[in-house]
Amino acid sequence: MFLIAGVSPKTTIVDEKPQLCPVCGLARARYKRVDHYFSLFFIPLFRVKKGEAFLICDKCEQEVKEFGYGPESFQGDKETLCSNCGKKLKGDFIFCPYCGEEIRKA
Ligand SMILES: [Zn+2]
Ligand SMILES: [Zn+2]
Repeated sequence: MFLIAGVSPKTTIVDEKPQLCPVCGLARARYKRVDHYFSLFFIPLFRVKKGEAFLICDKCEQEVKEFGYGPESFQGDKETLCSNCGKKLKGDFIFCPYCGEEIRKA
């Protein structure tokens, strides 16, 4: 006995224009959307749920995540210069370990 009526996913291409994939570097990624359709006798009758668009690469066959890692991710490792002795300091110092002067933030 086959299940003749039910809800099945259907992938729709939102934008035919290929986008550059940050993983493989090829313009093979496209915006797609998975909608859910109510189907009867394997024919989709109407859409029951509209999916969110996502970028997926045809070559990598995986969803391309956002580029992420903005410059703010590296702020904990930034270098500061002591305004008094001019030495390079790694990290967030309040007082300079070389000359003992208070470090003024720019
Ligand atoms: Zn790719
Ligand atoms: Zn100093």
